[in-house]
This record gives sequence, structure tokens and C-alpha cells, in this order.
Amino acid sequence: MSSSPGREPRVDDAPVLHVDLDAFFASVELLDDPTLRGRPVVVGGAGTRGVVASATYEARRFGVRSGMATALARRACPDLVVVPGHFDRYEEYSRRFRALVVDLTPVVEPLGLDEAFADVRGRRRLAPGPLELARGLRQRIRDELRLESAVGVARTKLFAKLGSKRAKPRVGPHGITPGPGVLWVSPQLEAEWLETLPVDALWGVGPSTAAKLARLGLRHVRDLRGLDPHALATKVGPAMAGQLAAYARGEDPREVVADRVAKSVGHDETFAVSRQSRAELHGDLRGHAEVVAGVLRERGVVAHTVTVVVRYDDRTSVSRSQTLDFGIDDAGGLRQVARALLESVPLTQAVRLLGLYAGSLRPRAGSQVQLSLDVDAAPDDVLSAAAASSRQHQSDRAGLRDAIDEIRRRFGRTALGTAADLRTSGVEPPRQRGRTAFGPDQESSGD
Ligand SMILES: [Mg+2]
Repeated sequence: MSSSPGREPRVDDAPVLHVDLDAFFASVELLDDPTLRGRPVVVGGAGTRGVVASATYEARRFGVRSGMATALARRACPDLVVVPGHFDRYEEYSRRFRALVVDLTPVVEPLGLDEAFADVRGRRRLAPGPLELARGLRQRIRDELRLESAVGVARTKLFAKLGSKRAKPRVGPHGITPGPGVLWVSPQLEAEWLETLPVDALWGVGPSTAAKLARLGLRHVRDLRGLDPHALATKVGPAMAGQLAAYARGEDPREVVADRVAKSVGHDETFAVSRQSRAELHGDLRGHAEVVAGVLRERGVVAHTVTVVVRYDDRTSVSRSQTLDFGIDDAGGLRQVARALLESVPLTQAVRLLGLYAGSLRPRAGSQVQLSLDVDAAPDDVLSAAAASSRQHQSDRAGLRDAIDEIRRRFGRTALGTAADLRTSGVEPPRQRGRTAFGPDQESSGD
């Protein structure tokens, strides 16, 4: 990759990013238990029939790979540390990972827990170029999740996925060599790969298809070029034949398809200086709720569960969730529920991370008010949209009150904020001092 800025692609040359976290499960285990650092670690079944799900690069040096029987891995690496999986932790990290990608562009197609495609065409006018976006994303993943990742930047999904693979660290007999981290699949590289790659490097070509192709003498992608698709179709089926023919020409018609209703939307922050007081955390929640509500509205969905995650300095975490019988996409309402959840979390030590997640997402019902704060909208439209949103917010208050009562019942009655500081898009709802639905006024609430 050239360091000369003039040779870097523009967004339209390489609009597809494939982001892949390195040794994901094993890396999360290392974060949770730093004493494992530098040691050969796998996540997997420890029993006689156990299988390796994820291996650190240190373990890979011994030939250990995911999918391998744990017993075999132990033989290859006698010092191997086998850790059972903690899927709740992986899911939490996966949500946070996706939130970072979605922050870059809403057109994100997750692939498993630790990979995603992103189409950055929407950033065309704002972005310096796709490589800078990729580097920025990788840096955020490192800073905020403390995980390493690789990003392929390309014209198509196929090349982007191949690119992220080549951007990863490599394990050889002399140790671990860092990869470039971000790799642009330039037209030259595309041409080179189409000449040299084996067929099983292609998407969807598993061992059985590869074996069928090998029996036809087709071992490399270049062998597929100029083949009669009908002849190929009789061997691998018409769909696969058409796809292979396209790949061999360097084409990939598949678009990045945004997860219409993703499983959750979240925002979290690891603080530079750990938070000591609840008041500070309440302030942070305000920002978190704005971000999450913004993404919900952008996607046209409402959330039916709200989760608050608190991570302490000793790296233990507490999470609190509440299911709502109404859908929420309003920052003020979201913050009220999140605050109630946060109040039930003991602050026995300083807090290094605060996360807010909105889950059980459903499309916003067509009959409900559509909020659109499009920047191009006329001021009148913005105002009327805000007023409509405010009205919506008012009608949701009954449900909100029930939800907060429910949180108190489940997690303990504590001081809550007031409805008076709720604001929706600049429209302030009527103050109800003395009759606050959500608890005592802010002035009289605890720290
Ligand atoms: Mg991965």
C-alpha cells in the first residue's frame, strides 16, 4: 500500500469495508484475565470431545487452529490453556463492536459475532477516503474495546473479505508477524488474486464444492474463467455456477445489505478517568441516550428492552435490563429508563465503562408519528416534527411510568430524576413540579 496520498482510493473506488476482529473469543478472555497474556490460550471444550473455538496467535504458533479437537491441540502445545467460553461476554463485545461500525455508516451487514461488512458510500461527501475511515474504525476498536481487528477495503464484498484476511497477523516458524491491519485491494491486487487464488478462497466454496471442481481440473480461480456456465451448472448447480463465473471475472453483484432490524443498538464509553460519582454517570447517560435514540430513529425502529452496563475498575461488570410494553426511540424517555436502571447499580468502586443498549427492536409502526429531523428539511418541518415527537412522547409517559415502577420493584426503590428535565428535540414538555411521575425533583435527588 502506497503512503503517497495521491494513490489512495476514493470512496467510490473502494466503498466496501470488511472488518474482522482478531482471535475474538480468546481476545475477550485475555481482557477479562490479563494473566493469560502472552500464553497460548484457546477457548473451547476441555473434555475429551472438546473442540477449539478460538485460538490466540501464541497458540497458533504451535499449529493450533479453531475447529481442531482440543485433545489434538493439547498434544501440539503441552502448555495450552483451555478456557471455557463466556458467550454473554462475547455478545456484549459483539454489540459494542457493531455499534462502532454503525457509527461509521448505517449500512452494516454483520456476519457472525466478530465480522461485518460496511458500505461507506454515504460518507462520500464527508470522508477523506475509505482507507482513512478504515484506519479510524480500527483505532476506535482498539481504543474503546481494546481488541485488534483487520479491515479489507475493496470494490466488492468478495475482495473486501479476502482483504481483511490478508491484513491479519501471520504466524510463522519465526514468530508472529503483524499484518498491515488495513488492506486496500487495488485493481493490481485484484488481478493478481484472480490469477493466483485457489478456488476454495472463494465465497461459498467449501471442501465438497472444491473437491467437485478439482475433479473437473478446476483448482484455481483462473481456471473458471471462460468456462461454459451450462457445463459447470450440471456439476455444481446453476446458482453456484453463475456465482463462480462472476467471481472469476472479478465481479460480485452482492450488495452490503443493512441488517434491517438489528438485534440491538448501543453506545458505550470507556472513560479516560474512571467515574467516581453517580451524578457524573447520569450526565454520561444523557449523551448515550441521545446517540442511541438517534440511531433508532435513523433506522426507523423502536426498542422494547433497555440495558445499562457498568464496568468497574476491577473489570467486573453489572448489567440491568428492563423490558418495556411500548416501543421507545426518544432520548428523554430512554434516559429515564436508563437512569432508573443505573440507580439500582451499586457504586462500590470507580466505574471505567458505562454502556446503554436498546434491544428487542421492531419497526416503528406506520400509524405512529414519523419523526424526521432531516438536515435538509425546512425549519417549519423540523418544528412540526419536534412537536409531533413531543406529543408522541407525552402519550408514552404512562408506559414509561409503569416501566420505571417496575424497575424500582425489581431492583429497589431509589431516587430518580424528574420529568421536568425531559426535553425532546428542543421542545420542553410542561413542568409538573410536585407531581412528578418519575420520582422526586432533581434538586432533591441523591448524588
Ligand atoms: Mg475474526
